[in-house]
Amino acid sequence: AKEQGRNTYSYFTDKMNKEVSRRLAIEEQIHGALERGEFTVYYQTQVDINHNLIMGAEALLRWSNPALGKISPDEFIPIAEQTGVIIPLGKFVFQQAIVATSLWKKKHASPFRIAINLSPCQFRDPDLVSFIIDEVNQSELSAKEIELEITEGVLLSGHDYITEALGSLSQAGFSIAMDDFGTGYSSLNYLRTYPFNVLKIDRTFINDIEKGTANKELILAMIAMAHALGIRVVAEGVETAAQLDYLKHINCDYAQGFFFSEPDSVVKLLLSNPQPQCN
Ligand code: C2E
Ligand code: CA
Ligand code: CA
Ligand code: CA
Repeated sequence: AKEQGRNTYSYFTDKMNKEVSRRLAIEEQIHGALERGEFTVYYQTQVDINHNLIMGAEALLRWSNPALGKISPDEFIPIAEQTGVIIPLGKFVFQQAIVATSLWKKKHASPFRIAINLSPCQFRDPDLVSFIIDEVNQSELSAKEIELEITEGVLLSGHDYITEALGSLSQAGFSIAMDDFGTGYSSLNYLRTYPFNVLKIDRTFINDIEKGTANKELILAMIAMAHALGIRVVAEGVETAAQLDYLKHINCDYAQGFFFSEPDSVVKLLLSNPQPQCN
């Protein structure tokens, strides 16, 4: 038993050592990664499910490093936040996304809206609002073509500067979306108190559509509630025809997920048919 205890102990220390050294390596590599051109922005289309028409896309960061290979955003975003790299990185995403949207508009006549994720840390930058407004003014886009996605984590702190920033951005005409809806706390109250235009139902709910009625009822209620507040709804992580059918049946507005397309390069985005052929 003693022997086994020691093995378990060394198993855990090994695992911890590996995790710590990977983290350190990421921290080391993330500095200068933007300057070295290691980040790219991918785009995943969002579909208006009532008209079967691409209505926009979400910008999603990708990082490929010579020493570490491909690192997923779930792993590097927290480190970018802790190291402050998220500030220049967030600006990079914004500028890239504006270029991609301008190119889409040159090619297609239909309306298009680009969704950009904002981390809570970006709100601590006092220049965030003026940066966003300046970038859009210098582009051919208008604010209403840009959607800013935030999670409840942004609102949790309750800081005045966050309320003010969201108010100014909403006033300037930007669309504000609540991301990952249903996974945190007090979501309902946030929807009432902040100027949200869009609610994104987290993909864990969509995954469960085929499993049981409880989650189906919950999605139905979320959509009814959002619509009552004048908020449109995006279903995240739609992977099957059955999920899409149900979402259409209950009047969901938009859908995003592997069923339509995976996140891909700007070139692939521009080649997409605005009327998606589903897999
Ligand atoms: P998110 O904002 O909830 O983005 C959606 C994630 O779901 C993306 O993962 C996307 O690739 C994935 N996804 C889309 N459709 C499906 C599907 O049908 N099935 C499944 N299983 N997954 C699907 P990704 O690109 O790995 O990004 C993970 C998270 O990293 C994002 O979650 C977001 O929180 C963060 N992130 C990504 N890019 C940025 C960025 O530019 N800025 C900030 N602040 N965060 C970002
Ligand atoms: Ca998002
Ligand atoms: Ca999400
Ligand atoms: Ca997420």
